[in-house]
Amino acid sequence: MDAHAFARSLLQEFPRPDAIFERQAAIKNKMHDVEPKFREGQYTTLSAKHLALLFNLIDQHAFAGRICDLLNDAGHRLTFRLSRRMTHCGGKTTTRVTNGSSKKDFEIAIAPRLIFETFAVQRTAVVTGNVCADPLQALTRIMEHETLHLLEMALWNESSCARRRFKLLAERWFGHRESTHRLLTPSERAAKRFAIRVGQTVSFPCAGKTLVGKVNRITSRATVLVPDVTGPRYSDGNRYRKFYVPLGLLDKTS
Ligand SMILES: [Zn+2]
Repeated sequence: MDAHAFARSLLQEFPRPDAIFERQAAIKNKMHDVEPKFREGQYTTLSAKHLALLFNLIDQHAFAGRICDLLNDAGHRLTFRLSRRMTHCGGKTTTRVTNGSSKKDFEIAIAPRLIFETFAVQRTAVVTGNVCADPLQALTRIMEHETLHLLEMALWNESSCARRRFKLLAERWFGHRESTHRLLTPSERAAKRFAIRVGQTVSFPCAGKTLVGKVNRITSRATVLVPDVTGPRYSDGNRYRKFYVPLGLLDKTS
């Protein structure tokens, strides 16, 4: 099947809703077979290899392997990466085109920490508008979403999950109700688990002492500004030293 025929069939020949659920259950079982630790809720072994496997299972079960055929025929490359730094979205698909070449380099990056930390503080997560009961389900929903980004980029050279075509494909091929990765963001998690907010006064241990400062920013750690005459001057006119502190080490003092 050539790329045009594949593109047309994607927009016209949708699976039955119950077939989507059956397929998602089959993929989950296969992932559990390959990595029994996932079945026990242990995800420390998660690697780029598992991401590649998950993608291939989605391609085989949903599209009869046509995405891989499409990439191979066109000479495109696809790699997978676990991103430790992404803290605001669950996944990201990027395309690189070498000048003068029709071949593309695709990369799907997934943020495992965002997924795992979400499940560390709550039992379910809403991803793509679907309630997920465990990290593997959340990961699979995110991979489905990224698979569609890849497909759009490969077939139409552009992709946006805010647009109608993406929403249609996401709903009809995967049962997604929303085209966003609505996992908790780190600042929401911090607020929930540790009740820490920007602007709050906190204390934390540092080199045998307890330092006191104000939370300036929250990502995967909190940025705390501690008054210090040797530090640089900030916009409020005072001098501070900046510390990056794991959220679990912070105590609220106000
Ligand atoms: Zn998206």
